[in-house]
Amino acid sequence: MSGIKDFVDLDVYNRPVECPKCGGVMVFKGCGEYRCEKCKYVDYDDYGKVRNYVEGHAGVTMAQASDATGVKQKTIRTMLKESRLEVADGSTVFLKCEMCGASIRSGRVCSKCEVSYNKMVEDRARKKQAKMMAGFGMERGNIDEGAKRFKRDNI
Ligand SMILES: [Zn+2]
Ligand SMILES: [Zn+2]
Repeated sequence: MSGIKDFVDLDVYNRPVECPKCGGVMVFKGCGEYRCEKCKYVDYDDYGKVRNYVEGHAGVTMAQASDATGVKQKTIRTMLKESRLEVADGSTVFLKCEMCGASIRSGRVCSKCEVSYNKMVEDRARKKQAKMMAGFGMERGNIDEGAKRFKRDNI
């Protein structure tokens, strides 16, 4: 199961995984937005919620954004810190993607790993659902295989 732990660790913004309406898999659309692949219901993770709110309410304080979105101030502070870490052009200091080690300009992982990470979460949610339908089977082997495939793609 090596590799799986890294993915779980990334989930600091309460990513929606299952649709609250129909239980379908929530698919990553970018910028904190997710859409149910079955009923098209749209939901946001903490980052998406805060981002939407701040965009519609110029000049809000962190406390106001926290009250309005229900996202903890500590989490919002982390978001601010991450975007403030963006490095200037020509700088020799680069952040490293926590998953593949590539140089990145902000955040914790590169955009490639972010996409792969979200595919992985969606995949696991689908497998979990398939497992619930089929009873307990040999899903575990499949999940290990998925993790290996993911690693190979990102070397
Ligand atoms: Zn749904
Ligand atoms: Zn990466």
